[in-house]
Amino acid sequence: MSKIWDVIVIGAGQSGLAMGYYLKKSGLSFLILEASGEAAGAWPNYYESLKLFSPGKFSSLPGLSLSTVKNEYPSRNQIIQYLKDYALYFELPIVFHKRVEQVSKTPHGFQITTISGEEYLSQNVVCATGTFNNPFIPEIEGINKYRGKVLHSAQYKNIEPFRNQSVIVVGRGNSAIQIAIELSEVSDTTLAVREPISFIPQKFLGKDIHFWFLITGIDSFWSFGRKFAKNSSVIDLGEYEQRIKEGNPKVRKMFESFFEDGVIWSDGSKEEIDSVIFATGYRANIGFLKNTEVLDKNGEPFHKSGVSTSIPGLYFVGLPAQRSFASATLRGVGADAKYIVKRIRKNFV
Ligand code: FAD
Repeated sequence: MSKIWDVIVIGAGQSGLAMGYYLKKSGLSFLILEASGEAAGAWPNYYESLKLFSPGKFSSLPGLSLSTVKNEYPSRNQIIQYLKDYALYFELPIVFHKRVEQVSKTPHGFQITTISGEEYLSQNVVCATGTFNNPFIPEIEGINKYRGKVLHSAQYKNIEPFRNQSVIVVGRGNSAIQIAIELSEVSDTTLAVREPISFIPQKFLGKDIHFWFLITGIDSFWSFGRKFAKNSSVIDLGEYEQRIKEGNPKVRKMFESFFEDGVIWSDGSKEEIDSVIFATGYRANIGFLKNTEVLDKNGEPFHKSGVSTSIPGLYFVGLPAQRSFASATLRGVGADAKYIVKRIRKNFV
């Protein structure tokens, strides 16, 4: 008979690693199953020019600081290396190349099946599979007849394929603005937004905004922080707002529909467009729960603070605004992982 683990964590990105840190301290038996061959989560897939919106000292997981030059904003590659080092430093029990295909409830816990056919049994399951593999593109009339290129920001790597093109970036969050600004150097770029773009200064009274989030409690004051997390203000050192004021990239109200060669704006005018990039966010990546009762009509899990409200023993870590403003960030996920481990431990007393 197969071993029954106390806990199986699915995913070894920052959320799965933070879970590993607290599970190791708890003394519970556990494994982390990871689809890829490295413990870096979605970071290797993010666009190449990505600089974090939080300085190094506000971008660490529990127990091991990310060492960067004081107040420096780390690059994507620095985070990839940090996460891999973190997994090694704490000797986390990660089994690589195990993509979970199905999680089923059994009378004694859960059966977890991978696409390569292995089966694992566990009393508790924690989904730490992020959102990156489930990008969201809204339904827009005519999208199927449009002959240009449609992609999600998850697929965007760099400016090269878009040189001398006319491009629309849809969205008003940090990714949308960063991508539109770098594209506007080499292409005719328009940001299409449903609501006006709002900016939060990156620095206030000489300190990074994340310092103020921490000391004012926005990061941990749950109900306010969760509301705040849904507000997609752009964190800005001043450059982004200035570029928008200068009109490069242009900003227009979201278009109504597509035609074969472009888009139709809300005033009825047509514009030929080569590529449309949707920076319109993500949904929870938990397709392996499809045969259970855990998802609402939008594919989001029913949960309270990461604890499934429909299946005992099932948990989530890393959902956006799961418990606070910072839940889906490097600095915030540790507190949520600690809380979930505490909840799981209660099942064993
Ligand atoms: P992921 O990083 O997506 O990791 C999930 C892991 O689960 C992956 O390793 C994947 O291979 C694995 N997996 C998925 N499905 C399965 C399966 N079926 N079976 C087994 N394994 C599976 N945060 C900050 O703190 N600061 C920033 O500046 C910042 N900038 C960002 C910029 C961008 C463009 C984006 C998209 C996000 C940014 N974030 C930032 C947010 C956040 O840090 C990331 O979203 C983070 O990668 C989420 O971590 P995660 O571990 O929850 O999920």
